[in-house]
Amino acid sequence: MRFLKILLLVLSAWLATLAPVAALEAVEVPANADAIDLTSAVDLYSGTGASLQVSTAPGADGIVRRIEVNSRDDENTSWAVFALSNPGDEQIDRLIVAPFFQLVGSRLIWPDLGASRIASITPSQGIAPERQSSQEADVFLVTLDPGAVVTYVVELRTENLPQIRLWEPDVYKDTVNAYTLYRGIILGISGLLALFLTILFVVKGTIMFPATATLAWSVLAYLTIDFGFWNKVLQITPGDEQLYRACAEVALAASLIIFLYAYLNLNRWHIRYSHLALATLILVLGLLGVAVWDPSVAAGIARISLGIIGVLGFAIIVALVAQGYDRAIMLVPTWVLLLSWLVGAGMTVTGALANDIVQPALAGGLVLVVLLIGFTVMQHAFAGGAIAQGLISDVERRALALTGCGDIIWDWDIDRDRISTGNEVEELLGLKQGLLEGPARDWLDVLHPQDRDTFRGTLDAVIDQRRGRISQAFRLRSEDGHYRWFRLRARPIIGSDGEVIRCVGTLLDITEQKVTEERLLHDAVHDNLTGLPNRELFLDRLQAALARARAEGLARPSVLMIDLDRFKQVNDSIGLSAGDSILLTVARRISRQLKPQDALARLSGDTYGLLLLSEQSADRVAAFADAIRRAVRSPITFGDQEVFLTSSVGIAIYEGNESEVSAPEMMREADMAMNHAKRMGGDRVEVFRPSLQSSGASRVELEADLRKALNTDGITVFYQPIVRLADRSIAGFEVLARWNHPRRGAVSPTEFIPIAEQSGLINELGLFVLDRSARQLSEWQSKFRVPVPHFISVNVSSLQLLRHELINDVKQVLSRSALAPGTLKLELTESVVMANPEYSARMLERLRGLGAGLSLDDFGTGYSSLSYLQRFRFDTIKVDQSFVRPNGRSARPVILRSIIALGHDLGMQVVAEGAETESDSLELHQLGCEFAQGFLYGQPMEASEATKLLQAEMEALSA
Ligand code: C2E
Ligand code: CA
Ligand code: CA
Repeated sequence: MRFLKILLLVLSAWLATLAPVAALEAVEVPANADAIDLTSAVDLYSGTGASLQVSTAPGADGIVRRIEVNSRDDENTSWAVFALSNPGDEQIDRLIVAPFFQLVGSRLIWPDLGASRIASITPSQGIAPERQSSQEADVFLVTLDPGAVVTYVVELRTENLPQIRLWEPDVYKDTVNAYTLYRGIILGISGLLALFLTILFVVKGTIMFPATATLAWSVLAYLTIDFGFWNKVLQITPGDEQLYRACAEVALAASLIIFLYAYLNLNRWHIRYSHLALATLILVLGLLGVAVWDPSVAAGIARISLGIIGVLGFAIIVALVAQGYDRAIMLVPTWVLLLSWLVGAGMTVTGALANDIVQPALAGGLVLVVLLIGFTVMQHAFAGGAIAQGLISDVERRALALTGCGDIIWDWDIDRDRISTGNEVEELLGLKQGLLEGPARDWLDVLHPQDRDTFRGTLDAVIDQRRGRISQAFRLRSEDGHYRWFRLRARPIIGSDGEVIRCVGTLLDITEQKVTEERLLHDAVHDNLTGLPNRELFLDRLQAALARARAEGLARPSVLMIDLDRFKQVNDSIGLSAGDSILLTVARRISRQLKPQDALARLSGDTYGLLLLSEQSADRVAAFADAIRRAVRSPITFGDQEVFLTSSVGIAIYEGNESEVSAPEMMREADMAMNHAKRMGGDRVEVFRPSLQSSGASRVELEADLRKALNTDGITVFYQPIVRLADRSIAGFEVLARWNHPRRGAVSPTEFIPIAEQSGLINELGLFVLDRSARQLSEWQSKFRVPVPHFISVNVSSLQLLRHELINDVKQVLSRSALAPGTLKLELTESVVMANPEYSARMLERLRGLGAGLSLDDFGTGYSSLSYLQRFRFDTIKVDQSFVRPNGRSARPVILRSIIALGHDLGMQVVAEGAETESDSLELHQLGCEFAQGFLYGQPMEASEATKLLQAEMEALSA
């Protein structure tokens, strides 16, 4: 059995050696054949030794001879054998051509980088083929006699012979020439491109250009080697050529990485891109070293990395495209081409694509890729980048600056009477595009009526005077009827005839700024109508005067508190603006009595404080006070009316060192004296004396009374309707506490709430109001079923908020009375919240969490900052009465509108307080306010009355 196996093996081995000998068959060479591929007709003997013995092909006579050939160079041990026959009757000349390098089938790993293949050719008969000179192939001329069959033994320099062909000499020459022309063109384009990109780099200087230039040069280098151009210029030894080819392939891969890195600005995106690029670059450049040692290994790795770079690069490009990076987007087509080139090259190298034209086609394709890359890059050189780099003119700089600052350009061509402005204005206002592009008069329709005249006037003035600048703020009406503020800054441009030909400038949306300004203005006006120092400043000055009196013992200060009698009535009868001018007149009259060292302040509504230093003795001070009283007393003419006013004056005199009196104490003393004067009927002067202090006991008394009232139903709860302005239906009620004092009658909450706060009764009071009103609401809600249930809005004192019990109180009340969600609202003033923002924020969140609505009371009177408003999530703001009631200034709608808009912007509902007249109501509705409260809709009323009101509304509805 075993023997049989060995026999079989030996037999097959013998057959194998025999087979090629028997198979050698001559290739017929017809006279008209241009090129015959011999590659498959060749028998290869690799590594057989320094000499070869073979049988020839059978000759015309059918005889097979054996010939032996010795190699010329002992190192060559491989052979190739083929036979040719000339069946015709003419002698023919042919070229045997074996190219040095073949991209086709040159392999990806350990590629064949080309070399001279044939050392010599020995024929079985006739003269030896003659080597022709060629830079890229082994070329031998053979002559075949008619009828001859010649066997050729080829001594090979390498182990394999990728291609061998038999060419008609003229055809071969033509083909070579044709390729030379093609190569010349390709080289020319590629050379020009490399040069051009290099020059661009010199001009532009951005990293993108040298990177692209490097790529272009690498391609050029590769092509010159591939085309055997260098062999022609330099005398290159065969081994060196492989080295160069490998180096060129490595350079191609490396420059592609550099390009990708530089063009896509990869260092900008993520540091890992930089690392990746640097690592691959170092790796690829390291290959140059490898190339010296073994070009084939280096070239193989370069080819593989080229593929990897292609794919990886594509992935990066796609990632950046997803981020909307426009450079990446522009590179996509180029990269797709590169990828397809890589696929083609890969197929060629592995032999899947094998024909004569792929190699030159790939060379052309490579140039095309670089060309595309070049175009992509140049686009950047000549498009956007141009202006932003290097030298720019002053005009360009200005244009850029304008673009940068985002102002809208406003240009009025006066001759054609056309205003052009960016469509930003129309966008801001929500107007139709192009509405503001046209004659200047078109703007008048959009301008605020109050701004029209100034706008027209300013434009006219500039044209008339031919100089100056326009700097004007005006309002433009937006689609929804709101106005936005703009500031126009422009300058006339004078033509050659000295006339103004156009006005050019910028337009800026200053609405935000204006709103803030108005707010500040408002605060300022409210704080000092009279321009007098306010309470704080007065206290400060008094303190300073007291300190000086103590230290120097000189001028002893006295404090006069001057309060107008029955001013409220006067105010109510003649109107607030008249009231204001009375306050001003009085301030002026008092001021006239003062000496420079004295100071007058307005302490509150109709109370003035006077720091008197010019008089020292008690009776002189009293006389001075009386002079003031008389000054105020003389009638004030207002229009055709005469108003008689009197005042009560309280005096506190600094007694000297023995009693260390503080400034607030002195003020309190003066206040008590003044109050005493009031009690005595007004129009008098009273000096403080300690006995007056006993009347302070009234406070203690009141406190006790209040305590009693809380336990004996002395406190009642009143309800004031809050209506929807759209249809005047009742949306809910504000809950207001009332105290009917057994002796003093109705005590205002402005009086007893502070007492309750000071005595701590406020918590009890608060809980009482909360509980009582919640029960009431629950009753209403079950009785009157309306689409949106009624709500109540309960005032909460700052002291209540500061205590944790409030949470429990609200929780209890809510659980006891099943109210519709969100219908119990708590009203808080800004000051409460601002005083302790951190804590308040937490409390408010918890209250919200319980389901209570939050209402910001008296909005606009405090110092609410926007950031706070955003932070505390109130769902309603209540605009203070002072904004709603007209005070003789036209500023009302502007401020109101800002506040309402602000509230809505922050997603809050807006309730306006103090609507007293029909016109208030109408205006509020027009300003976009949705809720209002005020005497117009109803005074604070008892629960029974409120119930009647609701009942009436229900009946009206069902009727
Ligand atoms: P407020 O919260 O600003 O309440 C609105 C005040 O404006 C009420 O005065 C109301 O009667 C009055 N009012 C309503 N409509 C008009 C109008 O058209 N014109 C005018 N001139 N005034 C109008 P009231 O009831 O005297 O309350 C004064 C303040 O006392 C309230 O101001 C509130 O801060 C406080 N207050 C009232 N009840 C309570 C309460 O139960 N608890 C706490 N903590 N404070 C309360
Ligand atoms: Ca309130
Ligand atoms: Ca209020």
